[in-house]
Order: sequence, then structure tokens, then C-alpha cells
Amino acid sequence: MSRLTHLECTRCGEHFPADRPQTVCPKDAGVLYARYDLPAIKRTFSAARLAGRAPTMWRYDAVLPEADPVSLGEGFTPMLQSREYPNVFIKDEGLNPTGSFKARGLSACVTMARHFGLKKLAIPSAGNAAGALAAYAAAAGVEAHIFMPNDVPAANRIECDYYGAHVTLVDGLISDCARKVAELKDGESWKKDGWFDVSTTKEPYRVEGKKTMGYEVAEQLGWKIPQGIIYPTGGGVGLLGMWKAFDEMEQLGWIGSERPKMITVQSAGCAPIVKAWDEGKPASEMWTAAATLASGLRVPKPYGDYLILDILRKSKGTAVAATDQEILEATRHWAKVEGLFAAPEGAASLVAYRKLRANGFFKPEDSVVLFNTGNGLKYLDVLDASVSGRANVVRAPLRQAQGRLSPAKPAPRQIAGIIGPY
Ligand SMILES: [Zn+2]
Repeated sequence: MSRLTHLECTRCGEHFPADRPQTVCPKDAGVLYARYDLPAIKRTFSAARLAGRAPTMWRYDAVLPEADPVSLGEGFTPMLQSREYPNVFIKDEGLNPTGSFKARGLSACVTMARHFGLKKLAIPSAGNAAGALAAYAAAAGVEAHIFMPNDVPAANRIECDYYGAHVTLVDGLISDCARKVAELKDGESWKKDGWFDVSTTKEPYRVEGKKTMGYEVAEQLGWKIPQGIIYPTGGGVGLLGMWKAFDEMEQLGWIGSERPKMITVQSAGCAPIVKAWDEGKPASEMWTAAATLASGLRVPKPYGDYLILDILRKSKGTAVAATDQEILEATRHWAKVEGLFAAPEGAASLVAYRKLRANGFFKPEDSVVLFNTGNGLKYLDVLDASVSGRANVVRAPLRQAQGRLSPAKPAPRQIAGIIGPY
């Protein structure tokens, strides 16, 4: 009997077989979660048996689908103790293959795609998910078909090219990219040639990869659950995954019923979850004219918004917005104070932590894990407009300041429309 027993709709609870590719619930389009025979796993596997296992996310294969992993060494990233705040830890996801936390979800997703014999994986993306899909598809020997706006950050475009992905640059926004993938689905080739859409939360296994962050938080803190987790939320897959992981770990007897307060941080230029949270709504509304330099947070309406908001409520967490100016300052602060060159999305966690300390939500003695979701090196043209050849970046002339060059202030990128979370 398989560990992975079935898939379950997060809206209506309907069960679906896990022995074939699945997308979302055919009845209500709910996100599907992978479910396991946890009592059987509990009988045969314990947390103590993790010791000495390879330092990748596949050390938790007891709670992942049975398939030959497509791995590039993702996961088990460092849990750094902050040099500034004694009870703060920074989970540095920038050290993953392809330089971001997207590696986890795409490793699991491509593993299952290869397992099911899928040949052509399509993704509308403007960010790190594209690079991660391209890398894992290359490692798996399947085709990655990436649909990106023609003004994507340089690192994402170049890495996809080098990984040998089929990159279609779309003259338009990410919503136009999603439409391109939708058009493909209507075509004859889609079923015949083994195409599959791996958009965030529209297939069940990216959540499974991301959930390993929750297992790592617990294991790396000695199976003590922190008081809070601050998570930069675009599509929110990691937030869903970690919450799922805590429930699984409780059923496995690895932790008790304690849970961290789950905190969403978004950019003030695209904050649909923060707005819905503040208004007490169960789902978000489409954020119009989203604009922020934190490209991973430009998701105007996350597909799993109803799950994210439910987790914030159940965990007694909250949602916080950070302006681009605050994010830039925090990126520089982390680099100078922690020695960590973070993705702007990751540095937004620090902005949120400061705000939650200032308003008393967190006390100095509370242990809080801040997620840095990616490596700052992938954002050179975002963080310093002087290295960008991009026409859409507003360039100010370099000026001498305190005897050194001060880079031009980067401009936010305009984006709007439906973004399948990427
Ligand atoms: Zn359903």
C-alpha cells in the first residue's frame, strides 16, 4: 500500500486518486492536497531516524510521494541566528539551487511529472519559478515551456535560456502569459503530446515540496515550534505547505498541538491578502495596477487566497504590508548587519518583524523565524538600476555621495491582470 493514499479537495473534501496527474477539483476548482497514510508512517518512521540523512528536502521522503526524486540538492537550508535580534532566526532559502525557495516546489512537481510520464511542462511566470522549472526539467529530461513578459528580470530570462527551456517572451503582462498557456490547453497537442500546466496550486505537488520548509523549521529548532513565522506571500504556497506540515507532524507525534503565529508580508504595491485580512474577508479581491520591485510579491490574487486567510486566522497571525522604500532599506540593512544579501521579497520579512515588535504583537523573547525567499544576486538589475540595460527602469544619473558611487534608485515595475501565482 502506498504512503500517498489520495488527493483531497480543500474546499469540498472530495477525494481523488493520486495515481495519475491531477489539477484542481473539477467541481469547485479547489486546491487539491496530497494525503498520506500517516498512522502507518508513524508506525514505521520516527523523527529520530532523520539523523544522518542527506541534507536535502528528500530527507523527509517518508511524507512525500513515492517516486524517484529529481533533485539538485534543494532544501535543508541554513537556519541562521540573527546577529541583531537574539530570538530571531533567518531561514535562508537563497542557498537553494536556482537561488530561491521555488526549487523545493518544482523539485517535487517535476519529480511527479516525470513519474507520470508527462513530457512538456508549461508555466506562466515572471520570476524564480520559471528558473526553477527550467533547471529541474533539464535535470529530468523533460521540456520546460516558459511564458514570460518580455521585460522580465535579466537573471530569470538568462537562466531559463541556459537551462535549455523553451522561452516565449510575450509582449504584455503576466496575465497575457497565462492566456497563452490557456490557449495551448485548447489545442490538439495538449493531450496528445503530454503537456501539463504546473502553475502554482493548480497541481498538487508544489505544495508538497514547499511543506518541507515546515519540517525543517521544526527539526532545525530542535522540534520546538517558534512563536511566529514571517513569510513573504505571493502565491503563498510555502505558507500552505508549512501549515500542512505542522498538522502532519502532530499526527506523526513529532510535535504537539502548538502552532506558530503565521504572518503574511506583502508589498504595499500589491497587498491583496493584507487588504482582505484588514477587512475580515474570506478571500482576496484582484489588486489592480500592482507595482513593486519585489517581483515575487506581484500576485494580484493568489489562487489559494482562501487557504492563506484561513491559516492567518487559525494561527492568530496577521498580515503586514511593506513599502518598496522599506524593503530596499531592509535589504541593505540585512546585507550590512547580517552579512546576508537577500531577495527584496525576503527582506520584507524584516520590515514586518520591526512593525510587529513596535506594535507589541511580538515581544523580544518570542522566537520568530523570518523567511528569506531568495538570493539578492538574482536581483542585481532590480536593486541597482545602474547595471540594468532595461528600457523600463527609470534611470537617474549616478552621483557621487560620500566618496562613492550611489546607485540610481530602482523603479517599480508595473504589472496588472490575472497572475496565476508564479
Ligand atoms: Zn472540491
